[in-house]
Amino acid sequence: MLCRNRTGNQEYNFLVSRSYFLFIGRLKDFLPPDQREQSLRVDFHGRQTIKHLAEALGVPHPEIGYVQVNGQEGTLSTISQDGDQVQVYPVQNGCPIEPHFLLDNHLGRLAAYLRMLGFDCLYRNDYSDEALAAILQREERILLSRDRRLLMRKVVTHGYCPRSLDSLEQLAEVIERFELHQQIMPFHRCLRCNHPLEAAPKEAVLDQLEPLTKLYFDEFQICPNCRQIYWKGSHYERMQRLVEQITAAKPGT
Ligand SMILES: [Zn+2]
Repeated sequence: MLCRNRTGNQEYNFLVSRSYFLFIGRLKDFLPPDQREQSLRVDFHGRQTIKHLAEALGVPHPEIGYVQVNGQEGTLSTISQDGDQVQVYPVQNGCPIEPHFLLDNHLGRLAAYLRMLGFDCLYRNDYSDEALAAILQREERILLSRDRRLLMRKVVTHGYCPRSLDSLEQLAEVIERFELHQQIMPFHRCLRCNHPLEAAPKEAVLDQLEPLTKLYFDEFQICPNCRQIYWKGSHYERMQRLVEQITAAKPGT
């Protein structure tokens, strides 16, 4: 397609290409509801990759798995041609790397839940986007964020956008998306600082316990990093029920 544009006395010709994108399955969550069941047209200039065009339509690249261009297998780095019909499939469930996570500032409760299930989660409520990107550059981690622009950054190789606003539903989504059911190790990690816990003899923590805790509990764990003490009190029982719910929700069981 040829378009004309006049700037001052000079006239430029811009060759505009046009591709059509059909997003499949959970990738539709990123589209406005009235556009989920149709091919979306995208107009562009010059050489553009499938990744760039998919993201221009609102779908972050870490969510994308298989790509088909005019019925043939393509990749995110395929250069789109005028008239291309592109089908974009979500990345398959599973965890391509060790399940080490990095969570953005808004996912503090999800971070606590994932730690409770034993997963390594870097989280602070004051990480800037630059700080998050710097961590991803030096460590292989899965970024969890509801900020699509953050997920679209080049430095993000593995990432997921939790769809729900509810932190328990987010937890279930992450467990399913990365197929983590078999790797749940509850009560092995400090909820406050992410460090693995160690068993602590009662006499070693006695002076830090409330009288009733001293009386009723004998098993303790301590975080060697922040010195937080854990025991199987009412909080533990609530968490235990949650773990059972999550484990019971495993697909196919
Ligand atoms: Zn700690």
